[in-house]
Amino acid sequence: MFKPELTKNLTDEGYQTYRAKQIYLWLVKGVNSFNQMKNIPKELRNYLSENYYIANTQIERVFNSKDGTKKYLFKLNDGKFIESVLMKYNYGHTVCISTQVGCKMGCKFCATGRSGFEKNLMASEMLSQIQAIQIDNNIRISNIVLMGMGEPLDNYENVVRFLRLVSSEDNLNVGMRHISLSTCGIVDKMYDLAKENFQLTLSVSLHAPNDDIRNSLMPINKKFNIEELLKACRFYIEHTNRRISFEYAMISGVNDSMDCAQELAKKLYGMLCHVNLIPVNNIDFCGCNYKKSNIKHIEKFIEILSKYKINTTVRRALGADINASCGQLRKNIKKEGDSYANIC
Ligand code: SAH
Ligand code: SF4
Repeated sequence: MFKPELTKNLTDEGYQTYRAKQIYLWLVKGVNSFNQMKNIPKELRNYLSENYYIANTQIERVFNSKDGTKKYLFKLNDGKFIESVLMKYNYGHTVCISTQVGCKMGCKFCATGRSGFEKNLMASEMLSQIQAIQIDNNIRISNIVLMGMGEPLDNYENVVRFLRLVSSEDNLNVGMRHISLSTCGIVDKMYDLAKENFQLTLSVSLHAPNDDIRNSLMPINKKFNIEELLKACRFYIEHTNRRISFEYAMISGVNDSMDCAQELAKKLYGMLCHVNLIPVNNIDFCGCNYKKSNIKHIEKFIEILSKYKINTTVRRALGADINASCGQLRKNIKKEGDSYANIC
């Protein structure tokens, strides 16, 4: 909840404004029960327990990578599992959060996409991933990326509410400029997002230079093709004055040829953008045989893009030893009584 919402609800019930202030401070700290709110009278705590609930992400397992990255498997109030990742950079702590349990979009290279869709997360469930990680590490999160499980723009209302909440001064106060949102390209929602005029960074998962290749990797391309997608990107840039970041997973023999680089460069030429090449994570599940492009090949790809003055980087693979990519962990873990089994 936003602080003014909570304040209104409580004052309508006859409680004083300063109580709402005290309760909100506890919520922002990330307490997971009303009984932990020590300065709140028992009668009010009982009232809160009867009328509200606190979204609660319980840490189910934590995986520590040698490079300092930590991957969390969280259990939600309703028993479903989601993943988040904490990354430590020299400029601060970044958390990658999930926005849905599973995903409907079915991208062929993505573990989350392969595992189907269960539900949309509420804003509170997004927020509590960050709070749980802050408490567990005794740190303040300075940057947030919506790049975990799920397609944020397929859960538009909750995601926008989350963005407003997490960036509000009363709440975690993470500036929009420190937030990135990644989408597979739900074009109509990209226009809506542009009109919100948030100063966040929009990442677009492009992964292909033409419709034939993109259709084979990402079913969403059959609904919104590359031309429509890039038109929406141009609108987004004009409207917000923000540079777009294109994600491009380099898959050996699929989208990494020099012809692909030329085609991509021509399409993006002149656009206020940045390209992030990600050597695809070889995913170890049934029927999938996508392999990473080798680094020499990636370097040649970058050379072509740079001839067209397209700013390109290769994403540093953090947490490679702990399956830190989207959906990989949950996919491999299924609770059976107290034991875990690989469900691949
Ligand atoms: N649904 C959103 C955000 C979550 S996915 C989106 O698709 O953008 C976050 C990023 O991880 C996306 O760029 C996605 O394409 C990428 N990704 C998924 N599986 C991957 C894999 N096996 N290797 C490399 N990148 C992957
Ligand atoms: Fe969903 Fe993104 Fe995975 Fe595609 S890449 S299936 S949109 S989470």
